[in-house]
Amino acid sequence: MDKVFFGIDIGGTATKLGAFSAEGKLLDKWEIPTDTGEHGSRIMPNIAAEIVRYADTTENVIAAGVGVPGPVRRDGYVRRCVNLGWGGFNPARDLSAQLEGVPTFAGNDANMAAMGEYWQGGGQDARSLVFITLGTGVGGGIVLDGRVVYGSAGLGGEIGHVVVNPDEPMPCNCGQYGCLDQTASATGVVRHARRVLARRTDEPSALRALDAITARDVFDAAKAGDALAYEAVDTCMGFLGKSMAMLTNIIDPDMYIIGGGVSKAGEFLIDLVRRHYEQLATLSEQRAKIALATLGNDAGIYGAAKLAMDAVRR
Ligand SMILES: [Zn+2]
Repeated sequence: MDKVFFGIDIGGTATKLGAFSAEGKLLDKWEIPTDTGEHGSRIMPNIAAEIVRYADTTENVIAAGVGVPGPVRRDGYVRRCVNLGWGGFNPARDLSAQLEGVPTFAGNDANMAAMGEYWQGGGQDARSLVFITLGTGVGGGIVLDGRVVYGSAGLGGEIGHVVVNPDEPMPCNCGQYGCLDQTASATGVVRHARRVLARRTDEPSALRALDAITARDVFDAAKAGDALAYEAVDTCMGFLGKSMAMLTNIIDPDMYIIGGGVSKAGEFLIDLVRRHYEQLATLSEQRAKIALATLGNDAGIYGAAKLAMDAVRR
């Protein structure tokens, strides 16, 4: 068989693997369960076994990249990854050892997704971009001139914990009050919708008939003209626009790519964010483009493979 690169995205429940040609074409992708038992000690052996099963021999593997759900230093070291049970572990070095020395590199999963979108997704026209994923929480990654920003402790691109709402009464899981994570995530959108409903009890809303509200319900109602739902999503996306305006004043990227489950609200969401962003990003004459992510859940394997490709060719 032809030699391949591997892009791997380790999640708390499933691990995605992608085999890529030397030219960067995704050849095959599949998932295995993530076995987090025994402090996650079986995760890397299971991945190594899958790689060998696919490639027959490690000689067919040029290099591998791994995305990890937590901070990863540039040298691959993970000080702590609660989701996987790891502490003081270097998954890149470990996988390389199990693959008879195949060069292996690791990065934070959202940073890998940013790289994936930059390489073969919504950010292909950009030189530098910020990727923001709106899911249960808010994650992010920054690619500047083709390189992922790791930062000193692996916290580069951790946009979710920028404080944007000083009036927030509830603490974030990081200990601060008013993080972007608390407003632009799916949980944040639902919380803000409930607050609007509780504050404007005399006004009708389609959301009042629902037992359990989801972020999708709030966006759908807002699109259908529900005033209270619209106020909630406008507030939440306003905070996202604010955080992007701050980033523009710091790194001035060409582009923002918005992904994650909440981004399924589509161009409606992008239009809301863009309006707030453009009101606040007053220094830049040429405003950054804002677009939806296009690789979905595959962004991580693309980015991890690209990390490995760039590293061995540098
Ligand atoms: Zn926070």
